[in-house]
Amino acid sequence: MTTKSETIKSPLRPPLKRKPVSSGRSSSERSGSTHSTSARSNPEWPRQADIRRAMQRREFVLYYQPEVELETRRIVGLEALIRWQHPTRGLVSPINFIPHAERSGVIHAIGNWGLAEACAQIHRWTAENPASGSLRVGVNLSAGQFLHAGLTDHVRSLLRKAGAAGRQLGLEMTESVFIPDVHAATEVLRGLRDLGISLSMDDFGTGYSSLSNLHSFPFDTLKIDRSFVSRIAGSDQAFHIIRAILELARALRMEVIAEGIETREQFDLLRQLGCRYGQGFFFAPPLPVKEISRLLRLPGRILSEPPPDCGMA
Ligand code: C2E
Ligand code: MG
Ligand code: MG
Repeated sequence: MTTKSETIKSPLRPPLKRKPVSSGRSSSERSGSTHSTSARSNPEWPRQADIRRAMQRREFVLYYQPEVELETRRIVGLEALIRWQHPTRGLVSPINFIPHAERSGVIHAIGNWGLAEACAQIHRWTAENPASGSLRVGVNLSAGQFLHAGLTDHVRSLLRKAGAAGRQLGLEMTESVFIPDVHAATEVLRGLRDLGISLSMDDFGTGYSSLSNLHSFPFDTLKIDRSFVSRIAGSDQAFHIIRAILELARALRMEVIAEGIETREQFDLLRQLGCRYGQGFFFAPPLPVKEISRLLRLPGRILSEPPPDCGMA
């Protein structure tokens, strides 16, 4: 199939070489992290009581995915991603329980646990290796948590208790969420920024009122949604949207992280467009603490080049 994108002449863009999309292994297999089929086939699961029981039984765990500087492959940050180690279902993806937790309100307990655990882990990594002190660990927060009065005080006390600094923590908020009281939310975000915490708008481009969110809230980082990154090599539209997001971010002096980089072609195009940071299976999937600790001990924290046939499309 030929697309008109192949005829576009952009100084930044090499001719498109289309590759087969299948790599033999699925993305989820490559991630080695979660599965969601069992939960998908049962929309009734989990119930609020299941999630509460899992909290009591300490069945939640944080995995971490490296965020890298594209030019050097140096790990500059980590995103904390929750998983449920279910005794019979295996490692369950957050997409299968976070929405239930949000609806039932259990998200506050899960969110507080996740924040406390990430702060404690920041401290452990810094104690193991002081050079890790420069890393920033991003934690996803649901809108309910952001809007909760007292979030700033809560985070301040968690950081103090864990012995971690605000600059070591990032908070990610997805933009696909309606914020009813922009003024109150802005105050919360300012308070967090004052602690040195960086604030990322997650899944940028997918929600509504993206631009007005940018205008209203003091975010310092945009995370370009994977749906654009995955199409950058095959779609002119995705390519130009990413270019426009990068220009916008530059003008607003915001950092950009491209999410879900899976292939060398995506990596090369993003670098050519001047995108500075990225994360994705091309570098590393979300990994348990032990494996991340090993990566943090690599010289310069620089990830090695994936083999040309690393299973990516
Ligand atoms: P997110 O914050 O946008 O996280 C990125 C998601 O993309 C993660 O899915 C990650 O595993 C996946 N990913 C990363 N690189 C690649 C790639 O190259 N290819 C593909 N196909 N996927 C990639 P995950 O871990 O299943 O998390 C899904 C969503 O669940 C997250 O999206 C976030 O919105 C939410 N979430 C995760 N942990 C938490 C948490 O602790 N609290 C809250 N409130 N939400 C969370
Ligand atoms: Mg995120
Ligand atoms: Mg995202």
